[in-house]
Order: sequence, then C-alpha cells, then structure tokens
Amino acid sequence: KLHNDVQDLKGNIRVFCRVRPLLDSESQNIANFKFPKEIPFNRKISLISTKTNYLGEKKEIFKEYQFDQVFDTFATQKDIFSEVAHIVQSVVDGYNGCIFAYGQTGAGKTYTMTGPTNATPETEGMIPRAVRLIYDIIQDLKTQCWKFTLEGQFIEIYNDNIRDLLVADPSSTNGVKHKTIHDERTGTTRISKATTVDLDCPNTLNQALKTAAHNRAVAATKCNAHSSRSHSVFMIRLRGTNDNSNETRIGSLNLIDLAGSERLSKSESKGDQLQEAKHINSSLSHLKTVIQGIKKDSCHINFRDSSLTWLLKNSLGGNAKVLMLVNISPLESSLSETESSLEFARMVN
Ligand code: ADP
Ligand code: MG
Repeated sequence: KLHNDVQDLKGNIRVFCRVRPLLDSESQNIANFKFPKEIPFNRKISLISTKTNYLGEKKEIFKEYQFDQVFDTFATQKDIFSEVAHIVQSVVDGYNGCIFAYGQTGAGKTYTMTGPTNATPETEGMIPRAVRLIYDIIQDLKTQCWKFTLEGQFIEIYNDNIRDLLVADPSSTNGVKHKTIHDERTGTTRISKATTVDLDCPNTLNQALKTAAHNRAVAATKCNAHSSRSHSVFMIRLRGTNDNSNETRIGSLNLIDLAGSERLSKSESKGDQLQEAKHINSSLSHLKTVIQGIKKDSCHINFRDSSLTWLLKNSLGGNAKVLMLVNISPLESSLSETESSLEFARMVN
C-alpha cells in the first residue's frame, strides 16, 4: 500500500464549523454570532449571550471558538467543497478518508452532505461532488495507464446495529446480521452481507443515492424522527492498477451524516426513545474519545467500543484524512445546543 510510511498523524484531523442561514419559513430571533476578522481568515466564531446577574444587571458573555475554518451563513456548497476536495484527491492517491457532519437535528448536516431534496448543481452536497471529482481524476489518470474500479456500500447505524440502505426490499434485511470486516492487508473495510454497488458511472451513483433515500423514508414511516436518530455512512472503495508500472492503489472514502447530537430531556425519554438516546450519546462520545486518542498519538484506542468507531477504524487511524464538519443553527432558541456542539468541537480540535 502506498504512503504507509507516512505517519503524519496530528496534521490529518481538521474541524470546520458551518452556520446555516435562516430559512424563509423561520421568523424567530437569530442568535448573536461574531466572526472575528483575522489573518489567517475565517478561523474563529464567537457566541454572545446575555445573562442577568444577581443585581439585575445585564452582562454580555462572549465565548470564542477556534476552528480550522469557519463558514458563515453566506457560504455555498462550492465553498465547503473547495476545502474538501484535497481529501478526495488523497483517496485516489491511496489514502483513506472520512468526512463527518456533526450537529443537532435541523442544523444542516444532511444539506451539507447530500444536499436538499431536488438539489440543483449549485446546491448538491459533498457526496455527489466528491464522487464526481473522483470520476474526473480517474478519467485524467487514464492517460497515465491507470485503471480504477469504484464500489460503494451505504448503511446506517441504528441502536448500534448496522442496516443496509441499498437493499431492494428493506423489510428483507430485518434480522440479517451485518459484520464489519477489516482487511488489514489492504487497509480497507467492508460490511459483510450488505449490498455492494459498482459506482462505474454517475447513473449508478444517483441510483444508489435514490435507493438509500427511499429506504430511509420507509424507516421514517415507522418512526418519524428515524433519520435523525441513526448515523448514515456512505462507504466508497477505490482500487487502481497501473498497466505500465504494475503499481496498485487502494483508497477509501467514508461520508457520514451523524445522528442528531441534541440531548433529549429526561421527561421526553422513555422506552425506545431512551434506548436511542443512550446509543447516540455513547457512540458520539466514543467518537470523541477515539479522535482525541488519535490526536494524542495514543497507543491504546478502543475502536471496538461502538459500531461507528469500529466501522471507521481504518479510516480514522493510521494515515487517514479526517474532516469533522460541525453544523450549527442560527436560531436563538437553539443557543444551548449550539454551545454544546461548539464545546464538542473544542474537545476534538
Ligand atoms: P439536519 O440534517 O442537521 O437535521 P438539514 O440538513 O435537514 O438538517 O437542514 C434543516 C433545514 O435547513 C432543511 O430544510 C435544509 O434544506 C435547510 N438548510 C440547511 N442548511 C442550509 C444551507 N446552507 N442553505 C440553505 N438551506 C439550508
Ligand atoms: Mg438530517
């Protein structure tokens, strides 16, 4: 495997913040943000809240957070992708990569990763853009005798169980146990018994995205908030061989729309909801612990503690390129969830 000798661990995890714009349907107050201008540009966001002290005096509280990049409400999908593109290039060069969207429900994770329903070329998200860039790069590499195959699996993790999102009939997967298989020889990961599609042209990609959206919609008829309570993971594996030099390259890219990070209030959570909330909290906190471990170059990282981190073992550790996009809402009513998302980012940054 190429580049295995490159062990530049600490430089490989980056954390971005994106504030979504106010929607036409929203007439609520917006929270008070500042984007301090500095060089290098767009690296900080401050959250300003007003608190009243015991004397009845109002005080403004500033909390400043630093990121590798901050995108304000005017940022376009293209702006975000321009910072994501180099990870896609690395995948074709034989690295593993992971791009996460983290944040409370309604903060813009799915918009960022997939795009809105009925996306236009301007509004489509990171998944279609990433795959299209892979097609462009491998097309160019043909002139240098490179041949690539691209395959994908699309799954969701719900209550720590893996469900196939590409199966033709979603009810048929009930009871099928999927297992995460790590191929240590090639450094890649796949899921046993989950549908694998050849992503050989844009049509097969679009078909796969449609099937996955349909399967999630079917699940949503059983439980309204289903998609916000599961992690969805689109896994792309790429293999290239060079007819001239006999070189091979194997890379993978995982695009992850995480479950909503919001805390359910104790009174709301009982039964199934309590189970879901427990699984989401523990998987997000294991993800944080794993990323912190990788950043510290720790030798004991427990990837096995949750299905999410176990699935992503090969694309988080080693020489993998990781990007965490922290999505936040502009609404004043979301202020406390926004603050906890920014605190999560501070812990992994
Ligand atoms: P999440 O997946 O985090 O729950 P969504 O991606 O569904 O959030 O976003 C919530 C709503 O906000 C959706 O209607 C979505 O289309 C809209 N939205 C999110 N981000 C943007 C953006 N950058 N520009 C315009 N609309 C957005
Ligand atoms: Mg969503």
